[in-house]
Amino acid sequence: MADRLILHVDLDAFYASVEQLDNPELQGRPVIVGGLGGRGVVSAASYEARRFGVHSAMPGARARQLCPEGVFLAPRMARYRELSAIVFDCFRALTPLVEGLSLDEAFLDLSADPGAREHPKACAQGLREQIRARTGLVASVGIAPNKFVAKLASDLGKPDGLVHVSEAGLRAFLDPLPVERLWGVGEATTARLRRADIRSFGALRRTPEPRLRALVGRQAPRLLALARGDDHRAVTPERTARSISTERTFDRDLKDRSELQTLMADMAEQVAARLRSKSLQCRTVAVKLRSPDFRTFSRQQSLGQPSDAGPALRRIAQSLADEWWRQQGPRPRLRLAGVVARDLLENTGQMGLFTGRDTAAGKDRDTDRLLDAARERFGEGLLRRGMARGKRSDSEPGV
Ligand SMILES: [Mg+2]
Repeated sequence: MADRLILHVDLDAFYASVEQLDNPELQGRPVIVGGLGGRGVVSAASYEARRFGVHSAMPGARARQLCPEGVFLAPRMARYRELSAIVFDCFRALTPLVEGLSLDEAFLDLSADPGAREHPKACAQGLREQIRARTGLVASVGIAPNKFVAKLASDLGKPDGLVHVSEAGLRAFLDPLPVERLWGVGEATTARLRRADIRSFGALRRTPEPRLRALVGRQAPRLLALARGDDHRAVTPERTARSISTERTFDRDLKDRSELQTLMADMAEQVAARLRSKSLQCRTVAVKLRSPDFRTFSRQQSLGQPSDAGPALRRIAQSLADEWWRQQGPRPRLRLAGVVARDLLENTGQMGLFTGRDTAAGKDRDTDRLLDAARERFGEGLLRRGMARGKRSDSEPGV
């Protein structure tokens, strides 16, 4: 296999860093996100908190014992997701081959980028600087010929690290590492290796396979491969999203049935446009409705044919919302409404049913194309189908 250039990018203490970023008073203080309440576990700990021995997945009670002066905060997932989207935007500006592992961590395959191949460190440094400039957050990066070593490299570089392991430098980098750093190897196995005096990657690499087999059985070849830094797994870009949705929370409760209809039409069109922009279709449309007492209702209905057409989604969203409305008491009120497209599948371009211009579906599709083009030029929200006009200012969301 030709040499590859893989980056593992991981933000440092992500949730805790976001809290420190948004509230400068927390900078330099031990910040612990999560771990509130009786049974909560820690989601993230700032480096100041880690000095007290606090780490993620630790029970909150233990964290409070270790770090009584810690600032314990509830997670703000919406904010973390918002910054994560910007960070992933930076990734995708470099390559489409981005495999996200979590909100703040991904593999990037830059093998096909001649500039990055020639100057991998400068490229990774540029990415770190861009993330810093756009979000204020610090990312550590490991660069290596494969995923396993790239991840080890970024871990060892933390915090604020940039570690490059070239093909030629693999052995020098890996040999001194303790066997606990092996990927996907349990404690029992590492304990067995240690008892046999195999404590480092180097020692493991030099162990004859039959001896290793006697110690760890079928795992032996895999362990040897890891110790040599062999890992041929590809960077696999994200699988298709499971659903696409939009929702709005109202400043004032929504009380008007026709307003809800207008809103449903708008949101269905938006969701359909996002499906088309991702070359997806959905089989199911759902609506989400929340009353002021925070009870949330969800209704869904399947489409006869998978679709990405605004009118098809709109018809279902409106009828589901209206059905809910009619079932409520004399004066329904809404705090939040949303439209969700579910059961997504790739649009393979086989749309025999919809290509005819004479059919209603064909006309819908033509209108969708015009709307997409207009949205691209003028932005979301300026244009919509004639029937969805009016009343918008009343239902303008306070999101
Ligand atoms: Mg991280």
